[in-house]
Amino acid sequence: MTSYPDQRTPEEWRAVLSPEQFRILREKGTERPSTGIYDQHAPSSGTYGCAGCGAALYEARHKFASGCGWPAYFDSVPGAVVRHEDRSLGMVRTEIVCANCGGHLGHVFKGEGEEGEEGGGAGKEAGAEGKGESKV
Ligand SMILES: [Zn+2]
Repeated sequence: MTSYPDQRTPEEWRAVLSPEQFRILREKGTERPSTGIYDQHAPSSGTYGCAGCGAALYEARHKFASGCGWPAYFDSVPGAVVRHEDRSLGMVRTEIVCANCGGHLGHVFKGEGEEGEEGGGAGKEAGAEGKGESKV
């Protein structure tokens, strides 16, 4: 197991996260496409932080419209996210987790037509929440 700087227990996470956030971040649940509140907005500035521990994960300029129904980012704050292989559900996918607390952020989906980035269109789901995008 990888160990993360933020070593909160499930009980401690439950106390600070909503049931939905807990389900996604700590139990690797998946948001249904197009239900994420951050999918449709595209701030020009600010950062997206981990919904669990608040670590900065993405900058607004990293976000792009993937068309896949989830917020997607083509790059991330250096060292902020960890990718590892997930062989659950009979598929080999790349899971993305917060490097600070290990919270589940989503999976990288390959072959969605975006080029040049390690992600391909990615579903980074509710694990990342918007911050600092108030000037609309
Ligand atoms: Zn985190």
